Amino acid sequence: MRSAPDEDEKGFREAVARLWPAAKGSLAQVRRPCTRPTCGACRRGEKHPGWIFTFRDQGRLRCRYVRPALVPRLRRAIANGREIEALLTQAGAALIAAHRREQAGRAGKGKGRPR
Ligand SMILES: [Zn+2]
Repeated sequence: MRSAPDEDEKGFREAVARLWPAAKGSLAQVRRPCTRPTCGACRRGEKHPGWIFTFRDQGRLRCRYVRPALVPRLRRAIANGREIEALLTQAGAALIAAHRREQAGRAGKGKGRPR
């Protein structure tokens, strides 16, 4: 990518602004028992379907139950989070490339090896 650092920043900001909601973690369907002592579904071992969101918080694995109504939005958030991570990866490489071009420019219009 041959863009100036300012263009890299503008492109990054615009891309990230479109990627909301965002989240990092994973969503899984689970079956859990309820608290009713006479529940037929629990007695038959069927239990109750639910969703769980698992994520890392300072290295610790944590999870939260998710209400079904939130599942589509959370899925989108996780997908957006992955795109943001990909953009961050590109941003690191672009930062180094831009710095090298800057150094090469100072060394005299592309002469010498970029550092
Ligand atoms: Zn039950």
